[in-house]
Amino acid sequence: MNRWAAFEKGDPGAVLEGAAEYLRFLKECNCSGFDLPKRSIARVENWGKAGESLSAIRSEVLRCRGCPLHQHRNRPVFGAGNGTARLVFVGEAPGRDEDLAGEPFVGEAGKLLTKIIAAMNLTREDVYICNILKCRPPENRNPLPQEVRACSPFLRRQIASIGPDFICALGAFAAQTLLKTDTPISRLRGSFHTFRSGGRRISVMPTFHPAFLLHHPERKRDVWADIQKLMQAMEPH
Ligand code: SF4
Repeated sequence: MNRWAAFEKGDPGAVLEGAAEYLRFLKECNCSGFDLPKRSIARVENWGKAGESLSAIRSEVLRCRGCPLHQHRNRPVFGAGNGTARLVFVGEAPGRDEDLAGEPFVGEAGKLLTKIIAAMNLTREDVYICNILKCRPPENRNPLPQEVRACSPFLRRQIASIGPDFICALGAFAAQTLLKTDTPISRLRGSFHTFRSGGRRISVMPTFHPAFLLHHPERKRDVWADIQKLMQAMEPH
């Protein structure tokens, strides 16, 4: 690929080389400086770095119109918790309560998740909680493939920024999306899988979604077994 083609495709190396060439040209013209918005400078500085800040990603999500869900949302739900957490919980998408509050897992299912986290001797502030989709699908319908395609880069960047060792995937949708599989949650849960983020391998424990447990309390025992495996793996050796 020639350099201009790489530049047009947004290859960071080619873009930076092009920018350097342009700066050399400005210098030759005796131009000593020019203005760039701070946001653009920060974005260029963060290209390709795992250390992209959560707040930079959040501000993109807050004004995102990347899929039709922005038309129905009250507030995008970016995620909440410890930005350097060892454990990230990933759910499906915001529901009605979350859409109104702009916070993940605040309704009845959220209260149950808070209890699960407390049973791990942790608080919501110790972990990070987010969803695959940042905006609520109307009537809580299942996310569409094009919505997942549009939104999942935000999640990947969030995970790269946080750098967790473990992810607990809540429900079939989160587990299947993260692990790129259509294996049912009943077969995925109970054992660790791998999610690759940059050069890192993150252990993923899929389990049932707390909203599912509200209607199937008999499955709490399975979730507790999965959470105990997670706790064991998280213990310092
Ligand atoms: S769901 Fe994701 S991609 Fe769609 S508008 Fe919201 S933030 Fe953007």
